[in-house]
Amino acid sequence: MIKETKLPRTVTSPKKFFIGTDMLSKIDDFVKDFGDNTLIITDEFILPKVQEQALPALHAAGLKGCAEKFRYECCRKEIDRLQECVRASEANVIVGVGGGKTLDTAKAVAFYLKLPVVLFPTIASTDAPCTALAVIYTESGEFDEYLYLPQNPDVVVADTSIIAAAPLRFFSAGVGDALATYFEARACYAADGINLVLHKPSRTGLGLAELCYRLLSENIDAAMDAVANHLTTPALEQTIEATIYLSGVGAEAGGLAAAHAVNNGMSVVPDLHKAQHGEKVVFGLLTQLVLENAPQEEWDNVVRIVKAAKLPLTLEDMGLKTFVESEWREVARIACAPGDTMNNMPMELTVDDVYNAMVTANTIAHRMKG
Ligand SMILES: [Zn+2]
Repeated sequence: MIKETKLPRTVTSPKKFFIGTDMLSKIDDFVKDFGDNTLIITDEFILPKVQEQALPALHAAGLKGCAEKFRYECCRKEIDRLQECVRASEANVIVGVGGGKTLDTAKAVAFYLKLPVVLFPTIASTDAPCTALAVIYTESGEFDEYLYLPQNPDVVVADTSIIAAAPLRFFSAGVGDALATYFEARACYAADGINLVLHKPSRTGLGLAELCYRLLSENIDAAMDAVANHLTTPALEQTIEATIYLSGVGAEAGGLAAAHAVNNGMSVVPDLHKAQHGEKVVFGLLTQLVLENAPQEEWDNVVRIVKAAKLPLTLEDMGLKTFVESEWREVARIACAPGDTMNNMPMELTVDDVYNAMVTANTIAHRMKG
């Protein structure tokens, strides 16, 4: 079928991305171009650092600023409460310091008030910092809706010393999420599919995803050594560039495919409710490699990175106690739902194909666990 017009290709990104150490004490550099009165939405654990480093830096630069503790859930009530705080303080720049939910809340507050937003991720476990999306939950923590934002965050600042000090499992989960980026972008590009901003994938998006995979391949062992000692090294820095920047921006421009579709389906398996997003994405990636009949050398390198990152390889490692066939047929059905990213695979797939690939992927994982 020849179409008269087609969707354009895109590259979307935060305006600026910084990576370095002791960035909170330089916060004035990142906010002064956007406004002179900052409200910092912050996780409780890092509040003392915000008070000792960020607020004095703002005040020394002649800027106003105050901090407000995030009350954990990224829900409508919390977003409304924080908008009131911004109005009361007359802030004209929003800063978020914390995990994915804190940053999504800061993005949502800034969006509703039409203010610029500067983000300091404290963990590297998801793509939340760089993307133009906020995941909204109910007050009790169930998924509510995706809030698609018209803009990516204005500035993202990755402080490697804070991220290196976070629990290892979050760092590993970020590697898992980032590991799938290249394979999904490659599939989406080959299928001429739809990227995360609902346009066609760009060659730049695929290129960013390729670099993401290359940085993980080259640095994973040395980066894990650094994290084990809570230290910053060049290998750790490059890995954080991959997990925080390239993974998010590469997926947004390059698109997702089977790995994330399988991850979405896995939400119906009760045994896996405590698994991290990036851990489930790894199993989705193994499933995708089966569907693509990927060459052995790709399997070898992917499994090497999964093991080095101390990520679960098999479903049982991830917490599955019993394999219930009906549950996994439901996972396959959800993964193949219209509108999910399974449609970005370059071949025609049925629910049975995906089920067969998942069972096979777990068998391969057990064999390669060695
Ligand atoms: Zn993801």
